[in-house]
Amino acid sequence: TEQSPSSLPAPRIAPAIASTTDPHLDITDVTKNFGAQSVLKGVNLSVAKGGTTAIVGPSGSGKTTLLRLIAGFEHPDAGSIGLNGRQVAGNGAWQPAHKRKVGYVAQDGALFPHLTVGQNIAFGLDRSGLRESGLDGGRNAVRRRVAELLEMVSLDPAMAKRRPHQLSGGQQQRIALARALARKPELMLLDEPFSALDAGLRVATRRAVANVLNEAGVTTILVTHDQAEALSFADQVAIMRGGKLAQIGNPFVVYTRPADRATAEFLGDAV
Ligand code: ADP
Repeated sequence: TEQSPSSLPAPRIAPAIASTTDPHLDITDVTKNFGAQSVLKGVNLSVAKGGTTAIVGPSGSGKTTLLRLIAGFEHPDAGSIGLNGRQVAGNGAWQPAHKRKVGYVAQDGALFPHLTVGQNIAFGLDRSGLRESGLDGGRNAVRRRVAELLEMVSLDPAMAKRRPHQLSGGQQQRIALARALARKPELMLLDEPFSALDAGLRVATRRAVANVLNEAGVTTILVTHDQAEALSFADQVAIMRGGKLAQIGNPFVVYTRPADRATAEFLGDAV
């Protein structure tokens, strides 16, 4: 016998505010304006330690701005950001970017073209990074750590002497990751890091990066407009639209039960 619609169980929709006990990153009611433009309109997000969250959403919806706030490159206008149980922005608190244990990899890697690969990675190894690695800052110590970081991202340590333009896009992104890993971040922010790569390289690089971050147990936030990427990479997906997170949940729930029509259309568009 057929069930009447009213007797069907109500669809389970992931709440717009994900709650995790003891979150590594805790964003509460964050707003950000640029001049008269309201770019973030009250964002709430919790990320568990060691978890991977993908933020997907159309261009201009505020994804990069949110990452920049988490990294400490911008101040929120209201709301607060907690990292590792400590308030780093909002409510009068402020911890500058260089004191946050946060790594950032941009879309184009943003390697310094005039420096060698080794120098690029060593740039991430500032004095605090060296101390945290138990190194004294001597040249040999730096060389060893650079080699170790290249191995971590599955590249030949001999590559340290090359320059960025001599490498493929995928290799450059792995080096950008090695540079970001040099300071032993607890939280890694990846802003469309694979989007400039062609399809085959994108999948291989994504797998390599996911493995490195998983093994190191680094909490990760990935901004992407690629739904397949979000699905394969993340244990939590957040849909950003018009400066708000419209839905947050595990990938399966978000994709099979979008919270509203706009989210369904956005996800459907790109699949
Ligand atoms: P997304 O990453 O989702 O594409 P962004 O966070 O880059 O979105 O941008 C959201 C909006 O904020 C855009 O309209 C952009 O022009 C604006 N914006 C971002 N950064 C600045 C800035 N520093 N000054 C002025 N406007 C900005």
